[in-house]
Amino acid sequence: MISNVQATTQHVVYTNKAQCRDCYRCVRMCPVKAVRMQDGQAYVEPSRCIACGTCVRECPQGAKSVRDDVEIARRLVRDGGRAAVSLAPSFAAAFPAWQHGRLVAALRRLGFGYVGETAIGAAHVAKATAEIVHRRSNRSHVCTACPAVVSYVERYRPQLVDNLIPVVSPMIAHARHIRRTLGEPVAVVFIGPCVAKKAEAERPEHRGAVDCVLTFAELRRWLEAEGVDLAACEESEFDEKPAGEAQLFPLEGGYVRTMGWSTDVLDARVLCVSGFDEMTDALDFLDDTAQPTVIEPLFCTRGCVGGPAMDTDRNSFSRRKRVLDYARKADERPNEQPGAADLATAFRRDSLIETREISEEAIRNVLNMTGKAAEENQLNCGACGYSTCREKAIAVIRGLAEPEMCLPYMKRLAEQRVDRIIETSPNGIVILDQHLQILGMNPAFRRYFRCSDTVCGRPIAHLMDPEPFERLAAGQEQLVERTVTHKKYDMVCHQVHYPLPEDKQYVGIFVNVTNTQSSQTKLDELRVQTVLQARELLNQQMHLAETVATALGENTARGEALLDRLMLLAEQQEQDEDSMATSWKNAYS
Ligand code: SF4
Ligand code: SF4
Ligand code: SF4
Repeated sequence: MISNVQATTQHVVYTNKAQCRDCYRCVRMCPVKAVRMQDGQAYVEPSRCIACGTCVRECPQGAKSVRDDVEIARRLVRDGGRAAVSLAPSFAAAFPAWQHGRLVAALRRLGFGYVGETAIGAAHVAKATAEIVHRRSNRSHVCTACPAVVSYVERYRPQLVDNLIPVVSPMIAHARHIRRTLGEPVAVVFIGPCVAKKAEAERPEHRGAVDCVLTFAELRRWLEAEGVDLAACEESEFDEKPAGEAQLFPLEGGYVRTMGWSTDVLDARVLCVSGFDEMTDALDFLDDTAQPTVIEPLFCTRGCVGGPAMDTDRNSFSRRKRVLDYARKADERPNEQPGAADLATAFRRDSLIETREISEEAIRNVLNMTGKAAEENQLNCGACGYSTCREKAIAVIRGLAEPEMCLPYMKRLAEQRVDRIIETSPNGIVILDQHLQILGMNPAFRRYFRCSDTVCGRPIAHLMDPEPFERLAAGQEQLVERTVTHKKYDMVCHQVHYPLPEDKQYVGIFVNVTNTQSSQTKLDELRVQTVLQARELLNQQMHLAETVATALGENTARGEALLDRLMLLAEQQEQDEDSMATSWKNAYS
């Protein structure tokens, strides 16, 4: 499985090289530009990737994949003794209401002895967060439930690491809760819509909390492989009931609401945002404001209900509604909650901000390579996946991009190659416009038809019979091919004429076959001469035979027999001449 793939450091998101078609969409869509192009292949750059899963969703070829951990989960359940599952509350969006209770039963059938909702951990996280925010009320805070946000801040906004609330995510909080309440040994499997949680579970400080992370897509595959049909399952209850509001965690505002804070969009103290652009806007805002602000960011648009592995085609607001409906039915009995010590964590500064100075000269050199030294040539078209030519030049210097990714440059290069081929062709090439006027020609054409560029703009009839082109223009034929003698130029050409419909132009290609034709003519003349000589010889032999017959007084019959034999001899000679001519022809053609 891994043989034909390139895995990330954490083996979470990788490219299947065989399927990659070099379209740069993943480069364009990756919010942190963690895709490196090399030799026409897209690679995920592990040190830059925050496992948000965007490229997996966006690749039109399905060439980006998320590591499949079903086998690990199956082994944990089969061999590891007691197994517990932490099910993300966004399951309510991925599965319709009639399947909720059945899904719990199905998980039990797969072998899980404990089935609980991650929302239990979320309630603990919200309580711990509220305490910290209250204690440090003079500073701004960034909530840390979303691992893609945490990774982003650590790597790309290290100056904000101190604003991250030092509390684990609901997944880790719930896993610790399970281990504490069930006692070891227990294998914990988290199931949700999130790819980044696979990477989160592998962080050294979280090791031993979650044994395996599956997406909803993986869960469905597993159920199918085991032949577990939700429609055929009985209903079952979760082993533990989460606190009511915590089930809103996958939605914008859910975290803050569970903290007991207002989610009024006009409340200036709180910013509940989702999606990369909103998130970066909100983080930028922290630089602009002195007022302590709490940012509740979720990396995916509309929160976890828009997660990369939320494998449903339902509208994102419908998914949100499903979670709201589900949460409304929940038991609001508060859980017994642990102290914050169990939930504490720390973040690191994994800064990927390039400290290496990139000189203007280096950037100019790369721009030069693709003919973009002049500002007016910097189209900033985004076809390479980067917003500007300059950004792409910097990516080339950093080893993330290749100069050849510039499509306008490659197009121009290809056109230059074509121009070169046409210029150096030994065959005459002419291009006409829709009125059969000459647009251009190559040197061979100028030589053959003894003309110069001054004929451009004049009708082709000025140089030759325009009939083949007229047939194309009349739409009678799509290709006219023939051998034409151009007496005026003392030349015989094999000609191919065809239209360029999109450009409303016509092309003529002229292969000079004059020499081949004259060889053929000479051969034909030789053959005629040979036959004439043979006939002359025959006549002489017949005359000689008559003379001999008369002289010897032999009868007419014998004379005729002799004549027949001489005729035969003559015919044979003619055939021999023919075959000799053929041999010459073959030898010289
Ligand atoms: S999106 Fe990326 S991985 Fe997918 S085909 Fe295009 S370049 Fe390849
Ligand atoms: S998973 Fe996200 S960060 Fe990683 S390469 Fe894909 S889009 Fe970029
Ligand atoms: S918003 Fe939710 S699904 Fe998306 S990366 Fe964050 S935690 Fe994962």
